[in-house]
Amino acid sequence: MSQTDIGPPLYKDMLPPVIVSNYGKWKYHEILKPGVLVHVGESGDKIYTVRVGSPRLVSTDYIRDLADIADKYCDGYLRFTSRHNVEFLLTDESKLDPLIAEAKKVGLTPGGTGHSITSIVHTQGWIHCHTPATDASGIVKAVMDDLFDYFGSHKLPAQVRIALACCLNMCGAVHCSDIAILGIHRLPPKVDMDKVGKICEVPSTVASCPTGAIRLDAKTKTVTVIEEKCMYCGNCYTMCPAMPLMDPDGDGISIWVGGKVSNARHAPMFSRLAIPYLPNNPPRWPEVVDAVRNIVEVYAKHARKHERVGEWIERVGWERFFSLTEIPFTDKHIDDFTLAQDTFRTTPMFKW
Ligand code: SF4
Ligand code: SF4
Repeated sequence: MSQTDIGPPLYKDMLPPVIVSNYGKWKYHEILKPGVLVHVGESGDKIYTVRVGSPRLVSTDYIRDLADIADKYCDGYLRFTSRHNVEFLLTDESKLDPLIAEAKKVGLTPGGTGHSITSIVHTQGWIHCHTPATDASGIVKAVMDDLFDYFGSHKLPAQVRIALACCLNMCGAVHCSDIAILGIHRLPPKVDMDKVGKICEVPSTVASCPTGAIRLDAKTKTVTVIEEKCMYCGNCYTMCPAMPLMDPDGDGISIWVGGKVSNARHAPMFSRLAIPYLPNNPPRWPEVVDAVRNIVEVYAKHARKHERVGEWIERVGWERFFSLTEIPFTDKHIDDFTLAQDTFRTTPMFKW
């Protein structure tokens, strides 16, 4: 096939030789210590993984540091995980400790395996995207600085996956993470009447609204927003830059809990709303940091071994979750959107 510049190269071209020769024939894996795994093949071959955290938005110098370590100890092989960890892959066990020592010298800490908090997956935030209700990297840095002790240890009941998406379009995994930090807009877009006709295509702007909240104003050749129908998704702003919905007081953060992708013990679960609104308070977002730590600590104290956050909440009941975490339950927790009857709990059974 001819080479193009579209899309990534075929992943199989870059696999370490030991993975190619044992492809589909791995027998088991073990976590040797926080941040270090071994996979053993049916052939008896072993591949060791040293996982370290990454800040996701990285510099060229940082990549060079990673590449130097991979060249020296791993025949050049490393990979990035979907949660922004970096994994060095090697076959020579005797190189593990020197690799870890060298990684620590350049500020890379092994961890993120097993019953830990791994790197927080996050979206673009103020640095890049056009619809964020909050920042991404800034909050993640503040939250992870506070919880860093849980990264390089296995002292939680199970793994805790934290995710951040800076708006509800949700490029991050907030719908299926144990704890999710989600930016929310609380005000409809402000239409700049002068600009709409000049820089926007009105029919596609009207069509962009999933709830039909945008109406054409034929007289002025612009649009109006029916505020009660708006769910603050920002879709229209993507089509029409004359409809910004960012607002310093309206925007903020919500916290969701209990999602997971894993099929172990329980089917995958969606995250649910725990805290409807926290203010944007850069540069260190103390309210968000405190809220996440509180949930982690209450979970760590009350959950059984191997129980994920959602599984723990389901066992004790949501009422108990709110009382243990002392998070107030408000009218904002009740979904009153048009299609909400599908999600209402219709049983009188309560768990206490
Ligand atoms: Fe942009 Fe929303 Fe994705 Fe953040 S979550 S990067 S604001 S689309
Ligand atoms: Fe429609 Fe979303 Fe724009 Fe509101 S923010 S008007 S729901 S597209």
